[in-house]
Amino acid sequence: MIAVSFPLTTWRDLVYLVAIVGFVVALKGLSSPRGARRGNLVGAASAAVAVAMTFSDSTVYHSATNVTLALIAMAIGAALAVPAARLVKMTAMPQMVAAFNGVGGGAAALVSVVEWLHWHSTGTHPATYQIAEVLLGVIIGSVSFSGSTIAFAKLQEIMATRPITYPAQQAINAAAGIALLALTLAAIVTGTVGYVYAILALAFGLGVALVLPIGGADVPVLISLLNSFTGLAVAASGFTLRNNLLIVAGTLVGASGIILTRLMSQAMGRSLTNILFSAFGAVVTANTSLEGAGGRSVRSSTPVDVGVLLAYSSKVVIVPGYGLAVAQAQHVVKELADSLASRGVKVAYAIHPVAGRMPGHMNVLLAEADVSYDDLEEMDEANAEMATTDVALVVGANDTVNPAAVDSPGSPIYGMPIIHTDRAAHIVFLKRSMRPGFAGIDNELLFNDKTVMLFGDAKETLQKLVAAIADL
Ligand code: NDP
Repeated sequence: MIAVSFPLTTWRDLVYLVAIVGFVVALKGLSSPRGARRGNLVGAASAAVAVAMTFSDSTVYHSATNVTLALIAMAIGAALAVPAARLVKMTAMPQMVAAFNGVGGGAAALVSVVEWLHWHSTGTHPATYQIAEVLLGVIIGSVSFSGSTIAFAKLQEIMATRPITYPAQQAINAAAGIALLALTLAAIVTGTVGYVYAILALAFGLGVALVLPIGGADVPVLISLLNSFTGLAVAASGFTLRNNLLIVAGTLVGASGIILTRLMSQAMGRSLTNILFSAFGAVVTANTSLEGAGGRSVRSSTPVDVGVLLAYSSKVVIVPGYGLAVAQAQHVVKELADSLASRGVKVAYAIHPVAGRMPGHMNVLLAEADVSYDDLEEMDEANAEMATTDVALVVGANDTVNPAAVDSPGSPIYGMPIIHTDRAAHIVFLKRSMRPGFAGIDNELLFNDKTVMLFGDAKETLQKLVAAIADL
C-alpha cells in the first residue's frame, strides 16, 4: 500500500477550496428568500473554517505575539458585532451593513500599508506589479472605509442626510482623483515610503467627498457599490499576501456587489451615474397635512368601511412599502391577511424590488412575521394579476406605486418600474399624511377616483381593520 502524504500547504489549499465552494453555494442560497437563511449559514461556516485554517500558516503562527493579537482583535470584533447584529432594528440594517463594510475596507487598506512598510523595513525590492497591488489595496480600501463611515453617519442621522453640495464639487473631486493617480504613479516609480501615507490620506478624503453629495435614501445603493469596492480591496490584499482564498472571496464580493448595485439602479429606473452625481432628493416637500398640493382633497374612509370592502372581496393584494417597516406593522399585516384568508378571500403580497430602503427589505420584514414565501408575488407577477384584483391595499408604499414613473416624462422617478395598483378595482392607501415618499414628489394615485385613504400609523390602522373585520 502506498502512503500518500501531502504537505500542510496542500491541505490548507484544499480546505480553502472547500470554503470557496461554500461561498459560491452561499451566494446561490442568498439569491432567493427561501434559500437565504441556509445560504447565510453556509457562508458563515465556510468563513469560520477558512479563518481557522489560516492559523496553520507558518507566516501567521511563527509569532506568538501576532497570534495573540489576532485572537484579541477577533474577540473584540465578535464582542461588538454579535450584540450589534442581534439588537439592530430592521430599519437600521443599511447603516449596519455600512459599518461592517467600512471596517472590511479599512482592514484591507491597513494590511496593504503594513506590507508596504514591511518591505521598507526589510529592504525588499518588490516587483512593480506587487507595488501596484498594494497601492490598489490602500486606495480602494481607504475610499471604502471613509465612504462607508459617512454613509453610516448619514443613515444614522448623525449628520445631515440630505445631499451636501458646494461650488465646483465635481471639479474638486476630479482634481483629487487626478492627484491620487499622480501620487500612485510616483510611488510605483520611486517606491518612496512617504507616498503611501499621502495616498492613504487623499483616498480617505476622496471617499468622504464622493459620498457627501449623495442623499440619504440613495445611500443604500452607494453602500452596495462600496461593498463591491471592499471586495476588490480584499482581493488586492489576497495578491499581496499570496492568499488564494482572499483573492476568490474578495472577487466574489466585488462581483456580487456590482451586480446588486446594477439591479438596484435598474429597479429605481435610474442610472448609477445619476444616483452618484445628481444630488437626488435635495428638496423633499414636507406636506404633512391631509390635503394634497394646491388644496385638492382626497377621499378618506374609515376602518369599518374598508373592513367591509376587504372582507367581501375575492382577491386582495397587499403592497407593502417603507412605511410598513417604519410602523413595524409586519405582524399585524399578517394577522389581517390571515383573517381575510379564513373568510375565503385570496390574499397575496406584491413585492417591488426597491420597496423600503434596502434590497429585500420587505421580504425580510414579512419573513419575520412568518408570511409564507408562496404568498409573495414579484412585481411582474403581481402586475399581470392586478386587473383581476378587487382591492390593492397599499401599506406605507408610495413611489413604488406612483404612476408618474410611467406617464410623467419630467418626473425624477420617470422610467422606474412600478406596481400597477391603478389597475385594481379599488385602491386603499394606509399612510399618515399627504407627505410624499423618498422621491419627494406628489402621487396622482392618491387622487384617483378608485382610491380611498386611511390616514394614520399603519400598525394602528391595520389593528383597527382586524378588529372591524372580526366584528362583521
Ligand atoms: P416611499 O418612501 O416612497 O413611501 C413611504 C411611505 O410610507 C410614505 O408615503 C409615508 O407617508 C409612509 N409612511 C411612513 N411611515 C409610516 C407609518 N408609520 N405608517 C404609515 N405610513 C407610513 O416607500 P416605497 O417603499 O414605496 O419606495 C421606496 C423608495 O425608496 C423608492 O423611491 C426607492 O427608489 C427608494 N430606495 C429604495 C432602496 C431599496 O433598496 N429598497 C434603496 C434606496 C432608495 P406618510 O409620511 O404620510 O406616512
